[in-house]
Amino acid sequence: MENVISSEIIALDINSAYKSACEGKLEFLARKAKKAGLSFYWTWGKGFWKEVTHEIVHKEAGYVEEKQAKVFCIPLQVTGQFHIALPGGWKLVGALQVIDGITLYNGNVPDSVRANPNHCEHCQVKRSRSNVYVLENGVGKIIAVGSSCIRDFLGRDIDQAIVGLSIWEAIITIDRSGGFDEYESSGGHSGVYDLQRIVAMTFAIMRDRGYVSRAKSDETGKDTTAMVLTLALNGGEKPEVTESDKEKADKAIEFAESFTDAEAQESTYIHNVREIARNNYATNKLLGLACSIARIYELDCQKKAEAIAKAAGYQSQWVGEIGKRAQFFGKCVGVTSPFESGLQFTRWVRWYTFRDEVGNIMKTKTDGIVLMIEGERVEVSAPMPDVEFKIVGTPKEHSEWKGDKQTQLSRCVVTVATESDKLPAKPKRTRKVKVPTIAEMQETLAAMEADPAKREIVAKMTDIAQRFAK
Ligand SMILES: [Zn+2]
Repeated sequence: MENVISSEIIALDINSAYKSACEGKLEFLARKAKKAGLSFYWTWGKGFWKEVTHEIVHKEAGYVEEKQAKVFCIPLQVTGQFHIALPGGWKLVGALQVIDGITLYNGNVPDSVRANPNHCEHCQVKRSRSNVYVLENGVGKIIAVGSSCIRDFLGRDIDQAIVGLSIWEAIITIDRSGGFDEYESSGGHSGVYDLQRIVAMTFAIMRDRGYVSRAKSDETGKDTTAMVLTLALNGGEKPEVTESDKEKADKAIEFAESFTDAEAQESTYIHNVREIARNNYATNKLLGLACSIARIYELDCQKKAEAIAKAAGYQSQWVGEIGKRAQFFGKCVGVTSPFESGLQFTRWVRWYTFRDEVGNIMKTKTDGIVLMIEGERVEVSAPMPDVEFKIVGTPKEHSEWKGDKQTQLSRCVVTVATESDKLPAKPKRTRKVKVPTIAEMQETLAAMEADPAKREIVAKMTDIAQRFAK
């Protein structure tokens, strides 16, 4: 009877710090399985933070401390032929081996066998044995058979079953949970990173430096965003990640995960970022793709904001009068950084797009720090659709782009709008100065002359007037 082999599945949560070590072990076991003609494969699931309790034994103080920790884990599912069905319905479940006088157990060695290690069910002879196999018949009967009798007992060799069992044992004893102490703080040192952390850091980097793709980096010599991220993850300067960066990262990952199969089929890039989002982690080699999730999410938000504005019936109109400096209000809905090349020099410029509350589009071009936020000059490198700005600028051109009328403003001073900025301008109080008539002036002088206290002043003034008249 040919042996019937059924597959089994082992599911484990592997601490991400051990992922690459584990991968190496699985590859080794795969070679072993292949040699024995056994099927063996594995898949990694979506990474997640797992709450674990681990014990720290304080030997000297004599107590055990329970410590809660969060560990970034990656589910592992291994499918293979571990317990080979043998003739007579038997399965190899364990083995007992004596090496240099030390008795070793492998797999499942029940107490009955441990208590009687020299017994062989087949020959019923009790003698010192260096190899005893433990077999189970599927209905709970467990027996031990010496290695010299196993072929007689089963009618065939069990080499394949031994390999299957050893692979099974290797997997269930994979060091998947050790090292929590050193690992508590991050998903870092193995080069496997929690995706939320990476994307949130990317948002923080983009806020400071804008997004620099590979192509843009080649053009400008600036470090790519992925490079800045890699340095930050490996002991370099860390960007300041805010709570809103983290929230945005969750949304961005959700966005990347939500691509349809059709979209993934159309573009290998979309397929790749979707895979990373589904896994919820990225390795060093995948950092570039992982951090691009932040970028594509931001672009998508911009697109949606534009679409909403359009759907709401906003039709942009030109604002202001060409050449006449005025005050405008709007939210910053777009920041683009085209590269401008002149004859003598090259430089970075930024185009800021603002939309006022009725949807009118204003654009302004600068090559530096422009926005005044709470008295500080701040370089805004990403849209800020939640903040209303006051823009004092001069309309330079009324143009049209893709059917939208837009006003280009020059020499802008942009500040965050305050409540009082938005109040209607108060009419200027003009003090009316009444110019007296000659008759009135003569009347005043006559009155002053009549007053003895003022007569002297009048005399002096008359004297000065006469001297000037000469
Ligand atoms: Zn025997």
